[in-house]
Amino acid sequence: MDLSFSQRAQGFRTELRAWLAEHAPRDPGGDGGPEFGTLEEEFSFLRDWQRKLAGDRWVGVHWPERYGGRGAGPEENYVFQEEMALARAPEVINRIGVNLVGPSLMRHGTEEQRQRWLARILTADDVWCQLFSEPGAGSDLTALRTRATLDGDHFVVTGQKVWTSWAQFADWGILIARTDPDEPGARGISYLVVDMHAPGVTVRPLRQMTGTSEFNEVFLEDVRVPRDHLVGELHRGWSIAQTTLAHERGTSPRQLVIHRMLLEDLRRLAAALPEGEPARDELRQRVAQAAIEVEVAKLNNWRTLTRIERGEPLGPESSFIKLYWSEMSQRIHDAVMLAMGPAGILDGGPRSVARGRLARSWLYYRAASIFAGTNEVQRNIIAQRVLGLPRG
Ligand SMILES: Cc1cc2nc3c(=O)[nH]c(=O)nc-3n(C[C@H](O)[C@H](O)[C@H](O)COP(=O)(O)OP(=O)(O)OC[C@H]3O[C@@H](n4cnc5c(N)ncnc54)[C@H](O)[C@@H]3O)c2cc1C
Repeated sequence: MDLSFSQRAQGFRTELRAWLAEHAPRDPGGDGGPEFGTLEEEFSFLRDWQRKLAGDRWVGVHWPERYGGRGAGPEENYVFQEEMALARAPEVINRIGVNLVGPSLMRHGTEEQRQRWLARILTADDVWCQLFSEPGAGSDLTALRTRATLDGDHFVVTGQKVWTSWAQFADWGILIARTDPDEPGARGISYLVVDMHAPGVTVRPLRQMTGTSEFNEVFLEDVRVPRDHLVGELHRGWSIAQTTLAHERGTSPRQLVIHRMLLEDLRRLAAALPEGEPARDELRQRVAQAAIEVEVAKLNNWRTLTRIERGEPLGPESSFIKLYWSEMSQRIHDAVMLAMGPAGILDGGPRSVARGRLARSWLYYRAASIFAGTNEVQRNIIAQRVLGLPRG
């Protein structure tokens, strides 16, 4: 494992850190960060932030220069995410566009599709969503029921998607749908780009336990999608979906920084408990355990980054990283809730802790063991591909 960053990555870090010191706003929802009355206000704030970043070419740094990126390698991309988190800068709003759609179009799209869509992803002039999950197809996406039928030079799409993050603000969506009803499973699926403003697209926000509604249900009723919005070959979209999903996993520098900061919150809260408080002894153990786990998460990240830098294929390790940090996250968050006591559940007001930020974070990170492949599915991958166990 390589424990040091290259000169190039360090130069990149210095330049970015200076830029962020001058331009970065505080993270919304964080202490001292902006508070929004509505999700629309938050969206607009985050879009402006992405535009500012894009203005100085700080969005999609890992994209090739010819498409507006900086051609940054894995190490610099790691540094980018780490520095953004250290500065408590908000993530870009168009993450699906930048991290999933862009790389998928660069690999599988036509040059015309790249010219049409890529530049506007970076500036958030077009916001994208991911129309993969369905009510009956999540972990097993090949069970999807959305149909796309060719009718002349258009596909006609009918079906329902769910858990579509930021769909209510999206201009475009990447969609997987069955184009060959006679082919079961992974075959017969195509990968299309859908105009989210097209007739027949209905987006219904779903209220989450955090109180906000980033998630949506998306209904598609006879939506006409031009044939040239097909990415890759007809009926061969499953392998492109795999490219998209692969970009959801890998190293997690942002999560590492966030949880290091959370550990500091935990340490501070535990230390502030008065002598004789029953939770004090237990929390001492939990703080120590959390400190060890955050350190192990860092080493996992560095080991994986070293492998990526050497051009070695990323196999089931990415499952291990995702499984490890998400479970660590939930354990540290639980300890934070214990340390805050009953006041921890207040969402603002004089008796609340950190204006409810930590409780909201606790609620949000329940999702960590579900998104980007549930933890049960990650365990299956590790069992089969690392431990060589038979399928159950
Ligand atoms: C914060 C967040 C954002 C998301 N954003 C998007 C988005 O923008 N676009 C999108 O398309 N989707 C999105 N999703 C959906 C996400 O990809 C799915 O929730 C996930 O794939 C799981 O699918 P599911 O919810 O249908 O659960 P299911 O697949 O129905 O699973 C239910 C339970 O069964 C378990 N299970 C399933 N199969 C197996 C198995 N083979 N072995 C053992 N256990 C199994 C699961 O682990 C889980 O506990 C998002 C989810 C979250 C939490």
